[in-house]
Amino acid sequence: MSMFTRMKETLLENTFLAYKRGLFAGTSGNLSCLDETGTKIAITPSSYPYEKMTLDDIVIIEAIGGAVVEGKRKPSSEWRMHAAIYREVPGTRGVVHIHSPYATALAVAGKTIPLVLIETLVYIGGDVPLAEFGLPGTEELGAVVAKTLKSRNACLMANHGAVAIGESLEQAMLRATYIEDAAKIYFLALQAGGAVALSDKDLEAMRKNLGN
Ligand SMILES: [Zn+2]
Repeated sequence: MSMFTRMKETLLENTFLAYKRGLFAGTSGNLSCLDETGTKIAITPSSYPYEKMTLDDIVIIEAIGGAVVEGKRKPSSEWRMHAAIYREVPGTRGVVHIHSPYATALAVAGKTIPLVLIETLVYIGGDVPLAEFGLPGTEELGAVVAKTLKSRNACLMANHGAVAIGESLEQAMLRATYIEDAAKIYFLALQAGGAVALSDKDLEAMRKNLGN
């Protein structure tokens, strides 16, 4: 047992959930959560099979600088992006980065997910924007993604995937699940002849109901 055990358990549970839901394939994708002090991040390891992952494979790093505090593996190569999001988007405690098929297909096509579903407004806070391309693993990618997440709880990442954030990892996970769901429905609607956006009037009424 270490002081980070609880955090690692939450991370592992949500990682398995994301894997089971098909939100990433192979060893792609990565999840993290921030501790209560805001100084330590629990993050999935770099290039390690999800089937074999145990608590001991989760890595604890410093939120600033990324030095490993606990763990025998290397942190996800996207740790800089996770750290940038915690730094730039106050209140964020969980980050889920996915490579799910429909969301990634739209990101590869250079599209956003417009507001065509009520869940998107409720869980994401509006349409799902597209963050411009940044080289994986770099500070630059972290910067463009964090900038995009200042106005939304989730975004697509050009030619890469998607990312969702939350005040907890569970909330980020739920949002990640809804992104893929919305992407799939939007994609299928386009095949069915086109998607109709919710009207401003209906959105206004829904925002009122939500207390925004
Ligand atoms: Zn990725």
